[in-house]
Amino acid sequence: MKKNNPENQQQFKLFIKELITFAFLFFTLGLIVYYLFQNSVYGNIDAAMREQKNRIINNSHQLPLHIQKDKDGSVAGVLPPERNASFQTNLIVFDENGRILNQSMLGERNFTLLRNTTLDLSKLNKIVDLPLASDELSAHFRSLLIKVPKNNQNVLYAGHYVLILQNIDADLLAINSFIETLIITLIIFWILAIAISYFLSKSSMKPIIKSWLRQRDFSSNAAHELRTPLTVIQNQMEYLLTKPKDTVMDQIKPISTSLDEIQHLKILTNRLLMLARSDSNIIQVNLQNTQLNSWFNNILTPYTEIASSQNKQLLVNVNASGNGMLDQDLIRQLMVILLDNAIKYTSAHGEIEVSINRVKDSLDIKVSDNGIGISNSDKVHIFDRFYRTDKSRNSKTGGNGLGLSIAQWIVTEHKGKISVKDNYPTGTIFQVTISLK
Ligand code: ADP
Repeated sequence: MKKNNPENQQQFKLFIKELITFAFLFFTLGLIVYYLFQNSVYGNIDAAMREQKNRIINNSHQLPLHIQKDKDGSVAGVLPPERNASFQTNLIVFDENGRILNQSMLGERNFTLLRNTTLDLSKLNKIVDLPLASDELSAHFRSLLIKVPKNNQNVLYAGHYVLILQNIDADLLAINSFIETLIITLIIFWILAIAISYFLSKSSMKPIIKSWLRQRDFSSNAAHELRTPLTVIQNQMEYLLTKPKDTVMDQIKPISTSLDEIQHLKILTNRLLMLARSDSNIIQVNLQNTQLNSWFNNILTPYTEIASSQNKQLLVNVNASGNGMLDQDLIRQLMVILLDNAIKYTSAHGEIEVSINRVKDSLDIKVSDNGIGISNSDKVHIFDRFYRTDKSRNSKTGGNGLGLSIAQWIVTEHKGKISVKDNYPTGTIFQVTISLK
């Protein structure tokens, strides 16, 4: 990514934000899944331990006969597993002083590991983790210390403390391999999310960049267009200041030049305002029921005089009977733009023809001239904002390249089409079709 471009920078920022968001989501998802899995594993273990505790307390089971208590209270023989007790369950019986009473039952291997357990009364009736290690062995247990009442029928447990130990090595192994799988899966999905977010940020930025560039060009072009007439007016005013004794008649040229430029500024600001409003969709198209023939004749007649004042001929041919729905202000503007251009770009003694024809529920408007014409390469761009075939900003025509983009917008708002083609032998024809409904 080229970082120096503001649009690329924006895209990069968006991409980083999406990346962090995805990372946060996956991390949270991982934590939740891990938490739920660990809880369910520990929940099962703890439930089994509580069941074991209940069996011991309720004495549901008698010690087999071959268990003998020695005089010192300790028990010889093999510790019988409680019924249904897990294979990994060990029981350590302590007397009040913390002496292990069932040492011989634990088996030598187990005892080397389990003898490190001590009677910790602070953990009475609490299920806690208990990691144990001897020289050769190490194991993790879940432990529950209980006090067995003296009246318990089981001679081994009665009146003593029993530490229920559940080996959880296999469960820890399962949890660890689950974490590994979870991390790998989340990393794969995160990488996928990075790729997806990269393409998403790229494609979602496209229209934003386009409209942002359009807006940027629009502002800089507008500023440029405003600067030229302002500079002219300033120069003329400064010149007038050097002739304080002259009369208006003496300086009619700079005054009329300034007034011309002011007129250009007025048109320009109006058009800029119109385009800005059309961009933000705040212009309401107000369709009015219009008597077509009389309305078009009314707005076109003054133009025949304007044309003849410039030694050009304007022929008007309106053939649109009945009424139709159109926004009168906007269609008037459309006609002004097309006629202004036709007159502007036609030399003296040129001919301009306007014909308006109704075809069912649509209206065909044709404005043709035998003026300078538009080259094919320019035809593609003339509806773009600020595009002028005459690139000189000081062009005598005083055009600003906004007229046709406004015309196109007006036509679109009337569900219509506008196109341009060559007139023969010279000149241009603008053809518009709008809906009258
Ligand atoms: P402008 O205010 O410059 O006339 P427009 O958007 O109305 O802006 O027109 C864009 C350009 O298209 C003009 O600068 C001019 O070069 C060209 N153009 C428009 N109408 C005609 C025409 N009837 N004949 C020749 N060129 C035209």
